Amino acid sequence: MPHPGILIVGASQAGAQVATSLRERGSTAPVTLVGAEPHLPYQRPPLSKAFLADKATEDSLLLRSAEYYRSNDIDVVTDEWVADVVLDRDGSGTAVTRSGRTFDFGRLALTTGGTPRRLSIPGADLDGVLYLRDLDDAVRLRGALKAARNVVVVGGGFIGLEAAAVARASGKEVVVVEALDRLLARAVAPVMSDFCLAAHQRRGSRILLERGVISFEGKGTSVTSVALSDGTSVPADLVLVGIGLVPRTEIAERIGLRCEAGIVIDAYGRTSNPDVVAAGDCTDLDAGDGRLVRIESVANAIAQARAAAATLAGSPTPLGAVPWFWSDQADVKLQIAGLSAGHDSVVVRGEPASESFSVLYFREGEVVAVNAVNAPRDYMLVKRILDTGGSLPMDRAGDVDTPLKDLVVRVA
Ligand SMILES: Cc1cc2nc3c(=O)[nH]c(=O)nc-3n(C[C@H](O)[C@H](O)[C@H](O)COP(=O)(O)OP(=O)(O)OC[C@H]3O[C@@H](n4cnc5c(N)ncnc54)[C@H](O)[C@@H]3O)c2cc1C
Repeated sequence: MPHPGILIVGASQAGAQVATSLRERGSTAPVTLVGAEPHLPYQRPPLSKAFLADKATEDSLLLRSAEYYRSNDIDVVTDEWVADVVLDRDGSGTAVTRSGRTFDFGRLALTTGGTPRRLSIPGADLDGVLYLRDLDDAVRLRGALKAARNVVVVGGGFIGLEAAAVARASGKEVVVVEALDRLLARAVAPVMSDFCLAAHQRRGSRILLERGVISFEGKGTSVTSVALSDGTSVPADLVLVGIGLVPRTEIAERIGLRCEAGIVIDAYGRTSNPDVVAAGDCTDLDAGDGRLVRIESVANAIAQARAAAATLAGSPTPLGAVPWFWSDQADVKLQIAGLSAGHDSVVVRGEPASESFSVLYFREGEVVAVNAVNAPRDYMLVKRILDTGGSLPMDRAGDVDTPLKDLVVRVA
């Protein structure tokens, strides 16, 4: 008899969702969710927003209560790092943790997320040089922020900019150092990058583009300044490095799954071994046309986890959801729906300086994505088009005198 249980490695957004979706689908299989962190699964987005600003408690971050897992017969094992997995031909196997606990399973789900990309430059191990991925990082950063005067954020991505906004709002001197020639360069069009630059500058942060970080200088064991590639240096008693994520693929590699940057999965959450599923930030989705897509977001983790659970429950259902994302930077709420990669035109609707506008991305005349700044209606409308069908005439989409909803053609 094969082992009846499902083992989920990685107890966060995707892992908790696999477990929840299994129960929602009526699966009665024993489910064990093993995670390395000492906490029940919690939300990460507030870590660089409300939690960092001291406006959210640890308890408020929890995705589900302990009672939820108990009453749904989901065994959550915290503080256990899965160090090795042996997989049999039928997809069953055994996982062993660093502390020596073993877990037999009939099917395996990998939801191992990622770890911050680290800088290995002189001074990188000085006190005050921090990263932000998990709750313990956020507690450390929040404490350090209270005592800091000069904060340097390395990396002009979402997490860095959100943290910079919190630091600035609490009265710190903030410098953001970005190696590329614009902020959020991998995610948004230049017009949106320019807007973010201006919005942060208006609030008093200094943004240094096209500058690399050469070293961190210190006094004793503490960081005191950051040396830049242009020969200048900026004072710092706190540095947050936010230069991206490295997907955790160690276990997947050990059991011979195809990994590129992340664990390669299909639209059903299946890895290169169809008995093993994966979901969330640890994956690269094979889009079917030769492209590998990795989206590090809550919505993606949930959608992929649902697809993986459907596969485990024996009723494979492909991922259908349109990607969406949000970022809060001071009172700027940026909402993103769709994938702008491959767009050939951009229409700006509204005036960026007003801090309420949207950028619509088109490919061959069809809207494929929106970035909305304090413009929730534009966001909702484009998301609905992407979810349910419809189109927007590109030549009129920028006309702010006409509500976007009046321009939509054929919403199904
Ligand atoms: C500061 C911050 C702000 C963010 N803001 C937003 C936002 O505004 N909007 C948005 O959509 N997304 C945001 N994200 C991204 C979002 O949180 C992630 O996309 C999401 O958490 C991915 O979930 P996951 O379960 O795939 O991975 P993770 O959340 O990384 O979880 C993976 C878990 O697996 C555990 N693990 C890994 N390997 C092992 C092992 N071998 N054994 C045991 N456990 C293991 C890890 O400890 C971790 O707990 C933010 C992320 C951060 C860090």
